[in-house]
Amino acid sequence: MHHRLAAANLLDLSDRLDAGERLGLDAGVRLFACPDLLALGWLANRERERRHGHRTYFNHNIRIEATNVCVASCLFCSFARLRPGDAGSYTMSLEQAWDKLRQRRDEPLTEVHVVNGLHPDLPFTYYTDLLRGFKQIRPDVHLKCFTAVEIAFFADLYGMSDEHVLAELMTAGLDSLPGGGAEIFAERVRRKICHDKCDADRYLAIHRTAHRLGMRSNVTMLYGHIETPEERIDHMLRARALQDETGGFQAFIPLAFHPDNNQMRKLPAPTAADTLRVHAVARLMLDNIPHVKAFWIATGVEVAQTSLWFGVDDLDGTVQEERIYHMAGAVTPEALTTTAIRRLIRAAGRTPVERDTLYRVLHEDASPGDAHGDPARVVQ
Ligand code: SF4
Repeated sequence: MHHRLAAANLLDLSDRLDAGERLGLDAGVRLFACPDLLALGWLANRERERRHGHRTYFNHNIRIEATNVCVASCLFCSFARLRPGDAGSYTMSLEQAWDKLRQRRDEPLTEVHVVNGLHPDLPFTYYTDLLRGFKQIRPDVHLKCFTAVEIAFFADLYGMSDEHVLAELMTAGLDSLPGGGAEIFAERVRRKICHDKCDADRYLAIHRTAHRLGMRSNVTMLYGHIETPEERIDHMLRARALQDETGGFQAFIPLAFHPDNNQMRKLPAPTAADTLRVHAVARLMLDNIPHVKAFWIATGVEVAQTSLWFGVDDLDGTVQEERIYHMAGAVTPEALTTTAIRRLIRAAGRTPVERDTLYRVLHEDASPGDAHGDPARVVQ
């Protein structure tokens, strides 16, 4: 590999990573410019295996998007409808939302993931009651709900501070925040693609507050539209800087831009090579965020599987009924069973590990080559 890294002009970066040194903006941009995708993947895989070996995490979760009514107008969004009553708009009653969980009451799922549009007319109690109802149906389930963009919107709409909103939602049952709404932190891009929602500083401030209040969260990055390599690295560095402060991010999740049915439909979707590159660079830049996740709904199942050798150690979960990406043209299934996810991971030569939202191990399969081990053993 030495010769290949040298030919790809990655040898000095490899040495720096080996010595535990951090990479900065210039090095990150060089990684994106490197034409040898396999050499880049090799480096990212080395970092992945240092942290996780063959382990590949997933969870048993469901997604509920309770409303797609949204006052914002992000150019890349195919999910939102501006007003209640607009064609294609919907808002679930609390009973309808709770029913989504009731129908799966007997499944061993561990997480409900909720993200919504920014609905201008719902009372704050809609969200607190939503959480309380979920906890009544399944007290053991982890509620990972509301992006920082939603938290900022609630604060402005209901005249509360961001911290007060978070505290009230935690009292109602909120356990952690998802990472959505980060898009690209750079102001140039944000002004163009999502000018009317909370800015990068507030997104990060809300996660900082959530971490201080004792919650964990994730951070995403929407890639493959108008952002530059410098802006991608800047995004990663801002996430890394907050992680240095709080340690509260669990996973970095690159999200592929999908161009169907939105105002950026003239742009091509990112290629598989770009997707692998973004995940690999994220693993190399984010030395302090434990997990890099491929959201298989967005990357496609096959690319997600390949990414397990390009820095990725987590495949999200079973998901169920995802709408945001499917309204943007995703052709992936809307759900995978835990058996199917395990099979995908094993077929890629990795070890499936079912986790809960906080990465506590629930079930770990035998490692590849572990011919004498149990095919599946409960470790906790
Ligand atoms: S991305 Fe989120 S905030 Fe933006 S328009 Fe879509 S639902 Fe609304």
